[in-house]
Amino acid sequence: MDWITKAERLQQLPPYLFMEIDRLKAEVQARGVDIIDLGVGDPDLPTPDHILKRLTAAALDPRNHRYPSYSGMNDFRRSVAGWYQRRFGVTLDPEKEVVTLIGSKEGIAHFPLAFINPGDYALVSSPGYPVYHSGTLFAGGRSHFLSLLKENQFLPDLSAVPRDLLPQAKVLFINYPNNPTAAVAERPFFEKVVEFAKEYRIIVCHDAAYSEMAYDGYRPMSFLEVPGAKEVGIEFHSLSKTYNMTGWRIGFAVGNAKLVSGLSQVKSNIDSGAPQAIQWAGIEALEGTQEPLKELLAVYQTRRDLMVRGLRKIGLQVDPPKASFYLWVEVPAGYTSARTTMHLLQEAGIVTTPGNGFGEPGEGFFRISLTVPQARLEEAVERLSRIGF
Ligand SMILES: *Cc1c(COP(=O)(O)O)cnc(C)c1O
Repeated sequence: MDWITKAERLQQLPPYLFMEIDRLKAEVQARGVDIIDLGVGDPDLPTPDHILKRLTAAALDPRNHRYPSYSGMNDFRRSVAGWYQRRFGVTLDPEKEVVTLIGSKEGIAHFPLAFINPGDYALVSSPGYPVYHSGTLFAGGRSHFLSLLKENQFLPDLSAVPRDLLPQAKVLFINYPNNPTAAVAERPFFEKVVEFAKEYRIIVCHDAAYSEMAYDGYRPMSFLEVPGAKEVGIEFHSLSKTYNMTGWRIGFAVGNAKLVSGLSQVKSNIDSGAPQAIQWAGIEALEGTQEPLKELLAVYQTRRDLMVRGLRKIGLQVDPPKASFYLWVEVPAGYTSARTTMHLLQEAGIVTTPGNGFGEPGEGFFRISLTVPQARLEEAVERLSRIGF
């Protein structure tokens, strides 16, 4: 059936990174190797009990069996606004400035459909989460990539955007704490972003999926805390990482009312809202006890320290990240990202992600995810010291 061809928008996409890695992993696994997967960032621990209890109770209630509202339940959006007030001191109108998402990936992917016209540019960090680029392509837009380099603390250099491109730039995607580099951003950077956005009339999408995953007492800020941010921007949040809820698919976007309304309009034409029982679980997550989160952060912090020590022992360079659950590690001298990850997979059965898989400027690094139990990380450290480089 040669006449069945995929649309150009799919052919333009790079292969989804983790599908390619899964293939290589399966090959090694087929040889009987006990694989330690430090590749994908999917929390290994279960959703906290109190959240599951609320979810199951809500699932049994027939009021939650019907179509949800497009923009999300009022209770959920009020809960989000309350959380923003408590956590960041940012005031939001739950009716106009909050929309429920079926996971933040969904919202990020759909957002360009609301604001990007064919030929418009999105400014996209590289290395970066692949969805900013694919969402832009699906909307007929083009990505202009901004390199995240170590010498700039993995922040994009906004002054490096070519002048003649600026009039066509419609959206800027940023993400701090950052995946994959684990970098964080402070107020002066966000202030610069707001100034830049106002000057060149560019919409800012801040992906804050890791805002709660921080260590050593560090508390990442919201982009919306900066004066003027709400005039230019929208912030995407996820319950996935904070509450081990990746499997439930629940997130939200907040900020400028026009941006929220555009995204909601696209969604009302594509999906029919997040399941209500899951929104109730989200309410419980945001309003209930935050003890499980504290315990979770202690777990990741222990894993982080263990892995950083192990990597340094074999001569690899890595800074313990202040936030996220990734280590962004420099490859050893004489190695590329791909050769490093192949070496780790073939010789030690350890899956990691090559930095250039997130974009060419990620070459020279590889990413380790801390989402496996401590005993497995200890085993990984042990194998690393055995194979070395
Ligand atoms: C995990 C992740 C998300 C998406 O999370 P959802 O499960 O879709 O809510 C968004 N952005 C980044 C950078 C992520 O790592």
